[in-house]
Amino acid sequence: MHGLMMDVPLTIPLIARHAEALHGGKIVASRSPDRSVRRLPYAEVLGRARRLAGSLRHLGVRRGDRVATFCWNHHQHVEIYFAVPCMGAVVHTLNIRLGPEELSYIMNHAGDTVVIVDRVLLPAFERFRDRLTSVREVIVVDGNGDGPPGALDYESLITAGIPDPFEESIEEREAAAMCYTSGTTGRPRGVVYSHRSQLLHTLVILQPGCLGVSERDTVLPVVPMFHANAWGAPYAATFAGANQVHAGPYLDPKSILELMSSERVTATMGVPTIWMGILQELDRNAVAYDLSPLKQVMIGGAAVPEALIRAFAERHGIAITQGWGMTETSPVGSISYLTGELADAPADTQYAYRARAGRPLPLVEVRVRDETGVRPWDDSGMAELEVRGPWVAAAYYNAPETGDRFTRDGWFKTGDVASIDARGYIAIRDRAKDVIKSGGEWISSVALENAIMGMPTVAEAAVVGLSHPRWDERPLALVVLREGCVCTADAVREHLASQFPKWWLPDGVEFVPAIPKTSVGKFQKREIRDRYRDYFGQCVDPGAPVAAAPERPVAATKLPNA
Ligand code: ADP
Repeated sequence: MHGLMMDVPLTIPLIARHAEALHGGKIVASRSPDRSVRRLPYAEVLGRARRLAGSLRHLGVRRGDRVATFCWNHHQHVEIYFAVPCMGAVVHTLNIRLGPEELSYIMNHAGDTVVIVDRVLLPAFERFRDRLTSVREVIVVDGNGDGPPGALDYESLITAGIPDPFEESIEEREAAAMCYTSGTTGRPRGVVYSHRSQLLHTLVILQPGCLGVSERDTVLPVVPMFHANAWGAPYAATFAGANQVHAGPYLDPKSILELMSSERVTATMGVPTIWMGILQELDRNAVAYDLSPLKQVMIGGAAVPEALIRAFAERHGIAITQGWGMTETSPVGSISYLTGELADAPADTQYAYRARAGRPLPLVEVRVRDETGVRPWDDSGMAELEVRGPWVAAAYYNAPETGDRFTRDGWFKTGDVASIDARGYIAIRDRAKDVIKSGGEWISSVALENAIMGMPTVAEAAVVGLSHPRWDERPLALVVLREGCVCTADAVREHLASQFPKWWLPDGVEFVPAIPKTSVGKFQKREIRDRYRDYFGQCVDPGAPVAAAPERPVAATKLPNA
């Protein structure tokens, strides 16, 4: 027997129509390249989106065509987020910080037919435009007539467009958006989101205990709209009727803090490295900013050091919530909200839980598995995290060689090494590719760097495993000190010695002015490994006992297929 409910397709036009009907007066504010802040009501943003869709249709964009964006976060990008999927095409967000080689590879692989480019990003676009094989039209935002010959002006298309009805019979399983992984661990791979996956992701992250924003909120996604859908914030804020704020090209701590103050932001999200900078600015000059409306700061995309969470809470009264996810998981998979049971727990216990990747969202299932099978939720050992759910990728676009990332019984292999405790809180111990294999045992680079970042003198720290003539790999720590602070390698090792077995302690500690970052602001461990490749080979006498033999091995297992 079938149910007798209406079979309404779960599509993005539902979000647009709901916001138009109920939240037309709410505001999307964005900072322009000239630093002015432009404020448009949703009614206008969505009206412009309809006219943009009309113009794209006129230009020949058809169902399933890929329309790429090469843009910062701003109201025009929100317009494109609606215009393209709501007319049945696919919005493909490009990571503006990738190199010309990767960008041309990604666009040609995706088969993008139209690309919408910010005028301020034209010089970067010019570096790979000649290599594009499928692009027919280039549209320039804030154009002033700039752009390659034949380029179209975004505003003129908005003025000329006939509003699109957004009522096309889009099926919920059709593609709505595309995003390539940023290639931290290899060649970029295309993830294709459906209308259904986007809508379900939006609904669930809106729940209390997730992003939990409502019509009373003002949301500033510091995370770029090209990085995994800005973690779903633009669709979630629009559906909820929250005001939105976008930082444009200005992502330095001062500019973000000024925008948070002036727009009275209540909820914001971004990667840890951004928030480390914000913390330093607040420590220096908190009185310059009014963050009193701020209720919700979600940090994710990389492990969030416990010290960062403590510092925000204890020095600035700001509670941090950690989220875990991947481009392949739309991206939010888990959130570290404290359960009611932990509400009265001692502060140290609460911080320890906030520093974990959190519990899986409703509809997302997780397991950790090694060659012995699925491990119990007892927080022991380290094994690969696998995940499944309606907004988890079932395949990569046109990449049959990546089939080994998906298990035969329908799970996605994240490539993250994790454990899960009895309460269902995941702890990401490392990426499989970054975990340090020393003397047949595993050392978590994330645990070491988070502990080093707990030192008051330290601003940032990254730990990598480097080839070692005796132990296979040994840890090297790169440390950036806070302004005006001093520290020694011995002090770093002493600090770690109280928390870790002796054989975990880094053999090398280097003080550096900065740590290389990826295009989305994570530590670029591949580059660090390349740069220091011969570090132990050159400075270590292979016969000398530089690293103590493992004294107390922790339970460590090998990944299946690792
Ligand atoms: P890329 O794989 O290119 O870095 P993603 O942004 O999709 O692009 O990165 C996903 C990865 O980021 C995860 O597999 C995980 O390793 C890491 N990550 C995300 N959130 C967290 C978190 N809260 N703690 C630890 N690692 C995280």
